[in-house]
Amino acid sequence: MMATRGAWGGHANGKIPASAMVTIAGTNRRVRKEFAAGVNAFRDAFRARFGYLPVIVESYRDYAEQVRLWNAYQSGKGNLAAYPGTSLHGWGESIDWASRIDVYGTPEKQWADANGPKYGLAPTGNGFSQREAWHFDWNGTVYKPPAPPKPPKQEEDDMPKNSGCAWVRASDKRNVRAVFNTDSGFWWPWTDNDIKISDVQKAFDVPSFATVTEGGAKGIEAMCALVRSRQEK
Ligand SMILES: [Zn+2]
Repeated sequence: MMATRGAWGGHANGKIPASAMVTIAGTNRRVRKEFAAGVNAFRDAFRARFGYLPVIVESYRDYAEQVRLWNAYQSGKGNLAAYPGTSLHGWGESIDWASRIDVYGTPEKQWADANGPKYGLAPTGNGFSQREAWHFDWNGTVYKPPAPPKPPKQEEDDMPKNSGCAWVRASDKRNVRAVFNTDSGFWWPWTDNDIKISDVQKAFDVPSFATVTEGGAKGIEAMCALVRSRQEK
């Protein structure tokens, strides 16, 4: 989902009440509501990659602070600053990062540039006349966490004769359908050729296929029931 950047909620730039924004988890930094989930997810993903949460130096910035930064910029003593009332920081739609996202050439900065946009964070500071590695603007993406994957339903009717089926959890955590044929005594993947025989064995708790083969159709039913009961847990 996308939303429009810039003015929102009938507020004035830099004069938004704290109660109208969302505080980023574990900080006192605030952003616009539609931007917050993406910022939190971005920080979680960064931590998964680098082992720590990236620090936000600044997010929402009030008008008085923008005036101070503008004056410093004009007098040559500060970084590039937007004219008061025009900064996306004043809408709670920008983030300035520390944690080496602010340093060109670091893995952190490269990762943030590559992965930020899907969480709604565009590395727009790269395009400033004085480049700012740390400055990211909301790109309008309203981030929604992906739904947890559901194991697909079994379809019994398209099964070959003399066979049983099961969903097994492959080593990469996907649920893969496997078919056991009593005539041939072989397992094979039904919809996916990445399945590993060792995963099938593990899922069925059988040391070898002979164990299942000897059980015949009853063995398959028992194994399928076992797998189903595990999936229901
Ligand atoms: Zn900034």
